[in-house]
Amino acid sequence: MQVSKSNKLANVCYDIRGPVLRHAKRLEEEGHRILKLNIGNPAPFGFEAPEEILQDVILNLSTAQGYSDSRGLFSARKAVMHYTQTKNIPNVGIDDIYLGNGVSELIVMAMQGLLNNGDEVLIPAPDYPLWTASVSLSGGKPVHYLCDEQSDWYPDIEDIRSKITSNTKAMVIINPNNPTGAVYPREVLEQLAQVARENNLILFADEIYDKILYDGVEHESVAAVAPDVLCLTFNGLSKSYRVAGFRSGWMIISGPKQHAKSYLEGLEILASMRLCANVPAQHAIQTALGGYQSINDLILPGGRLLEQRDTAWELLNEIPGVSCTKPKGALYLFPRLDPKVYPIHNDEKMVLDLLLQEKILIVQGTAFNWPWPDHFRIVSLPRKDDLEMAIGRIANFLKTYKQ
Ligand code: PLP
Repeated sequence: MQVSKSNKLANVCYDIRGPVLRHAKRLEEEGHRILKLNIGNPAPFGFEAPEEILQDVILNLSTAQGYSDSRGLFSARKAVMHYTQTKNIPNVGIDDIYLGNGVSELIVMAMQGLLNNGDEVLIPAPDYPLWTASVSLSGGKPVHYLCDEQSDWYPDIEDIRSKITSNTKAMVIINPNNPTGAVYPREVLEQLAQVARENNLILFADEIYDKILYDGVEHESVAAVAPDVLCLTFNGLSKSYRVAGFRSGWMIISGPKQHAKSYLEGLEILASMRLCANVPAQHAIQTALGGYQSINDLILPGGRLLEQRDTAWELLNEIPGVSCTKPKGALYLFPRLDPKVYPIHNDEKMVLDLLLQEKILIVQGTAFNWPWPDHFRIVSLPRKDDLEMAIGRIANFLKTYKQ
């Protein structure tokens, strides 16, 4: 008898860790060194967590043996509350904050708690694909709105408006964006807020890269721009504090809550069902948010992340037929392959062929729900010499690649 996956998974994809990764693992087992530019995981690239975070988790380990409140430790949520104040997100109480096993768990929870079959959620294209996957898993219908590469990858507001129907429940905003690196200025956030306001949409704001910003740009939370709209803002320790393995994130509910009592009850049920987030990692939150913000040393002039972003961006743009918008935030580059120079029909095959030929692992653009096979994503986490080697090999591969 065949055992099949559930129908709920029929349209669920998460190709960042998809089939090509399995080929990469096989090649590694055969003894090849693979340069991995596929996952935004700072630790394997030599980015260490602030020492005080590690010490605090170790110190609290013995008192972290029991479950915590389902929403999370009071001290950690207090620290998140203080953070909402620094971001000008108004009216957030201690019970409007949920801690989770990474932002990932909270994203799935937020969608499971909201969606009925056929409810539509507007999601950017390209996106961080967990958003699309979570909507599908929850019985909803992901509807992708385009972000415009010609306008620094800002959302195309007209495209958003044209895709709203009577079934549209919510809109997802990923800012700073993965995979494009776009950081939205206040005017863009105001336009997005206005669309939400006019159409009674909930805003889901994924702001996990809000402290990874380049060239002096500043980040504003859409929840601060739209205090009159129900917003769920997501953030965590994985990126800015380099402890992705701790699985520690939070979700902040702001805006008018009186009309959302039933949804908020649903979130409470889901949080209770998974008992609580990993407690030792919750102890890291207060120290992280209140401590020395060492991420700044990495993104300001002379900082490793900034230098790597510059190197990768320059080298990618030197490849004939490749163009890349300069990322203003986050840890990724999302270059375009001119279809006239590179007529690629299947970008997953291209990524696999690159892996087999050059032993470089990247992710195809369509894995981010980008509708055309003409982009790919690399992370800017590897050291400069590894980035030079990797992008050199991508250039070498493209010189003769035909599909
Ligand atoms: N949101 C975005 C935009 C991401 O890029 C990632 C991880 O890459 C996540 C959420 C997941 O974060 P976490 O490690 O907190 O689950």
